[in-house]
Amino acid sequence: MNLNSKLAAMDQIYDIYNHFISGQELVCKKGCAHCCSNNVTLTTIEGHKIINQLMSETDTDWKGKIRQATHQAHFRPQITTNQLAHMCARGIEPPEEKQPERLPCPFLSQDQCPLYRVRPFGCRCLVSRHDCGRHGYADINDFTLSVNTVMLQTLEHLDADGCSGNLLDVLKVMSRKDNRQAYQQGKLNCASSGLIANQPLKVLMIPPQHRTRMEPILQSLCDIRF
Ligand code: SF4
Ligand code: SF4
Repeated sequence: MNLNSKLAAMDQIYDIYNHFISGQELVCKKGCAHCCSNNVTLTTIEGHKIINQLMSETDTDWKGKIRQATHQAHFRPQITTNQLAHMCARGIEPPEEKQPERLPCPFLSQDQCPLYRVRPFGCRCLVSRHDCGRHGYADINDFTLSVNTVMLQTLEHLDADGCSGNLLDVLKVMSRKDNRQAYQQGKLNCASSGLIANQPLKVLMIPPQHRTRMEPILQSLCDIRF
């Protein structure tokens, strides 16, 4: 699949999620940013979209922000969501993922996200039914967590010849022209770039009690045209 088709399909996945989430009772609002940390993960197709926006902006300091932030401890996933699904389906114990202390996302500016329009799914799916600032944690219902997992699996499948990783690491890789060219040709070497290789979706992680309710969402994902 060429890059433009991938980007178009990704926007449709985001639209399906926006439609789902608009029906939820959430307290998330502009200027609420306790969830904006340096531990967000994403795929290279999402990183490509963000880099395009950053390169079109007058703020030229974004490379410096990424460079500085990657020197601080941040979450580096060892496996992707589809790898986790394969392991669970085969009864294999997944590796323990270490979460370093959360630091604010380096892009956050006065509690606003300058990347809001192109933010990755890892940011879009951070939602809550109560004020995280007051309670110290987000309150997400189980079905929304299942939808989030399905969306993550679908995005990874869409970008199956790409990579995943921490927002900062993916943007650092995708900020290089040679890496973007390699990515567009399906030749980006994830391991040597410090990222993990995406996998096609083989098994969906949907608990039995959510399967019927998930059907319309799965149908919308199957109907995506690009
Ligand atoms: S997830 Fe929590 S911190 Fe983030 S916008 Fe929603 S309420 Fe605010
Ligand atoms: S990219 Fe934007 S939405 Fe995502 S964590 Fe950073 S500031 Fe928050």
